[in-house]
Amino acid sequence: MNGDLIDALIAAAHSAISDHADELTRLDQAIGDGDHGINLKRGFDALLADREAIAGLGYPEALHKAGMTLVMKVGGASGPLFGSLLMGMAKAAGRGEDLASQLGEGIEMVKKRGKSDVGAKTMLDLLVPVHEALAAGRIDDLPQVADDAVVRTRDMQAMRGRASFLGERSIGHDDPGASSARLLVHAVHRLLGERGIL
Ligand code: ADP
Ligand code: MG
Repeated sequence: MNGDLIDALIAAAHSAISDHADELTRLDQAIGDGDHGINLKRGFDALLADREAIAGLGYPEALHKAGMTLVMKVGGASGPLFGSLLMGMAKAAGRGEDLASQLGEGIEMVKKRGKSDVGAKTMLDLLVPVHEALAAGRIDDLPQVADDAVVRTRDMQAMRGRASFLGERSIGHDDPGASSARLLVHAVHRLLGERGIL
């Protein structure tokens, strides 16, 4: 993957989060502490500011560096989790594995770091079905799979993170972390599609 593509991925991910930061904050106001949009925007602003340096690295190193930046700048629960996702992907990328395997390894890191799995109303409820569709080669379905996954989090009770403190009252709201992951999936899918990579 060349530097120009890495640069374009950072810009696309940044606008996806930045354009929807208020919406993500509103979702987190409903079942968390209302900082998810602000947290992520801070992280993706830092990535954008560092884009030239990151795009100058090889693809696995760029993923790792982007993951570290998110850990340091996003904070909250989601910073270390999105950071782990990218750093797990970096490991598989370093072994020359394809995007589906990269995402699979990233998800394993998120599960470990968050001591969580599907069904707990978290970003994993988005990432796992997206990974399954990607691994099955259902590329065109990815945006719809992501949209459906967010809707499914609505009926779940949160078992991890701040929303779990609400118990049954967490039911009836979309999970903020699944919603931000959905935005990122849409942005990456669109860009890689336009470039003929996916
Ligand atoms: P905080 O909860 O610390 O305020 P954020 O608001 O930035 O952090 O992020 C909240 C999101 O993080 C949740 O919507 C959920 O998707 C995700 N999350 C929280 N805890 C976990 C966990 N243990 N495993 C996976 N995802 C989690
Ligand atoms: Mg929060």
